[in-house]
Amino acid sequence: MNRVLIIGAGGVGRVVLHKCAQHPEVFDEIVFASRTVSKCDAIVADVKTFPKPIPTEAVDADDVDALVRLFEKYRPNLVINVALPYQDLTIMEACLKTGVNYLDTANYEHPDVPKFCYGPQWELHERFKEAGLCAILGCGFDPGMTNIYVAHARKHRFDRMDTVDIIDCNAGDHGYPFATNFNPEINIREVSANGRYFENGEWIETKPMEHKRVFDFPEGIGPKDMYLLYHEEMESLTKNYPEVKRMRFWMTFGQSYLTHLKVLENVGMTGVEPIDYEGCKIVPLQFLKKLLPDPASLGPRTVGKTCIGIWVVGEKDGKPQTYYLYNICDHQEAYKEVGAQAVSYTTGVPAALGAKMFLTGKWTGAGVFNVEEFDPDPFMAEIGPWGLPWQETYPTTRFE
Ligand code: NDP
Repeated sequence: MNRVLIIGAGGVGRVVLHKCAQHPEVFDEIVFASRTVSKCDAIVADVKTFPKPIPTEAVDADDVDALVRLFEKYRPNLVINVALPYQDLTIMEACLKTGVNYLDTANYEHPDVPKFCYGPQWELHERFKEAGLCAILGCGFDPGMTNIYVAHARKHRFDRMDTVDIIDCNAGDHGYPFATNFNPEINIREVSANGRYFENGEWIETKPMEHKRVFDFPEGIGPKDMYLLYHEEMESLTKNYPEVKRMRFWMTFGQSYLTHLKVLENVGMTGVEPIDYEGCKIVPLQFLKKLLPDPASLGPRTVGKTCIGIWVVGEKDGKPQTYYLYNICDHQEAYKEVGAQAVSYTTGVPAALGAKMFLTGKWTGAGVFNVEEFDPDPFMAEIGPWGLPWQETYPTTRFE
């Protein structure tokens, strides 16, 4: 009997719930919890494919005792954490206290410090190992699918990888001058931080948006500006693939988004330090989040596609080789299927399939793992039919 507990009724949680519910042959029972139970109820009401009732619960995932009570009530085999990165450690702690396995899509971040890293989660490796439990970290798209793409490239397409560029394009248009496609607070913290890339064993820091390239995206998307950012999957990939000499991450941004972000930064609206407003403490970025459109509301109005992939240069059978592996996801098709746009879809589908990999014994182990540490083959075989087909090419052009 496989029982999963999904925590977080946002855009990604909606997709995870729909995808698990499409596969009752794997997920015998599903429980859905979030801070606001009415959000869970509204999403559950849209799910038509699951043969059993899906219980919903209110939980404050910052509170380990409340989580322990919830886990003891339902005794899930696996918790899928798609709340916010702030809750990773409390949910992992509750898993350790109650003997429950764990999966998430984003690495831990402290609410007061805009800096994310795997360190505090990796530190729990021995405790998960001793308890005989498995924690699967970063099983969304990036991190997640991109890590599995690198594992696939190394296993099947390369004898040696020299450079890896992760390239994330959202060519969707929601019609607003400024909105973020996932949690605005997390998104703005990510893009307003300094950039960083890995070269010859060192991390090189850049100013936000300092490095720009134009990349010609496939399948009609065409050329787009993209910028170098630090992104969390590089932390585990550089550790697990020490042969890679250079690793970078690129994301596309439109000019309107960048201009708005610059103005908001210049006036202090992206700050995470509380300020005093007429005797009330407010965090500017959290206030800004209140003003911006809810990412979940972008689904019906977003048109266009996402294209996320990896560009690898290395050697195969003694010859130099360039390889580009990517997925294209259409915002409107995702919306038609699960009621969410492609950014939530591309995150939630790998999380649900990762849960299947664990529950069916394809991914096993006791400890804390990043997804590239598992066999990519069963995942790559199923991710297309689950909604995110992949394409591969061997480009003759260079990308410096
Ligand atoms: P949303 O903000 O839409 O949803 C987050 C949900 O978590 C909300 O429903 C919220 O509660 C709930 N939540 C927040 N705090 C708590 C708490 N203390 N207790 C219980 N529930 C809480 O975010 P998204 O759905 O866009 O993102 C979900 C996760 O996915 C994030 O961690 C994000 O970083 C990650 N992500 C990963 C990507 C990847 O490719 N790897 C890409 C995009 C996102 P409430 O019930 O009040 O609404």
